[in-house]
Amino acid sequence: TTKQLIMSEKLAALGEITAGVAHEINNPIAVMQGNLDVVRSVLGDRAEGLATELRLIDEQIHRVNQIVTKLLQFAKPEEYAGYVERHSPAAVISDCLPLVQHLLGKAAIKVERDDQATRHVLMNHTELQQVLINLIVNAIHAMPDGGRLRLASRDEERDGHDGICIDVTDTGVGMTPQVLSRIFDPFFTTKRRQGTGLGLSISQTLVSRQGGALTVESEPGRGTTFSIWLPEAD
Ligand code: ADP
Repeated sequence: TTKQLIMSEKLAALGEITAGVAHEINNPIAVMQGNLDVVRSVLGDRAEGLATELRLIDEQIHRVNQIVTKLLQFAKPEEYAGYVERHSPAAVISDCLPLVQHLLGKAAIKVERDDQATRHVLMNHTELQQVLINLIVNAIHAMPDGGRLRLASRDEERDGHDGICIDVTDTGVGMTPQVLSRIFDPFFTTKRRQGTGLGLSISQTLVSRQGGALTVESEPGRGTTFSIWLPEAD
């Protein structure tokens, strides 16, 4: 439809801008890193007295670098797609949890795990992690008064293909059919200024690119389940 076309043009334009900004940040970062190395070598033995300070600068440069890399992956997935590897779903879920721990604690959310999948999936680790974190953070937002977050994985065949399914289930506010029909549209958000409305559209793109699918079931007042299906890695 025309609306979808306009949305995808907007998304493409946003990608261009983000990628441009990320590139601009890359250059000063490289200069800082280079000069930090010079400072270290000039200081020689005397660098020991400044070990903590130098390490902090190093770490923060590394952090900015990681953020820029993520932005580029988001903005220009075709160009910056990392290599895909075999992953066990349970391991990727485990990698995600520490990153959202502070949010889970704040909202008094109990986490349940049910790792049943025996197969592996083929996907870029950062991208799969990004998708899962999007879903988990959305689930947390849906449970401001606390609740249960269930993370489950199992082997599942779809259309004759072996694969795995990862469910992210919350006991949160749920969605009306009207909201449900729009959640994968770029820029659709009910969170006003707090939301970008990009999380689910980008997640869907990332999963589809690996031949998978992102689906959802929801009931207002009861909760929501998002399911990531991915083909098995041979
Ligand atoms: P954002 O989180 O920035 O709004 P998303 O694309 O991730 O963007 O989500 C779009 C919308 O889908 C959200 O604003 C919210 O209305 C709805 N949504 C997503 N996940 C859930 C969930 N687990 N429970 C209830 N509503 C959700």
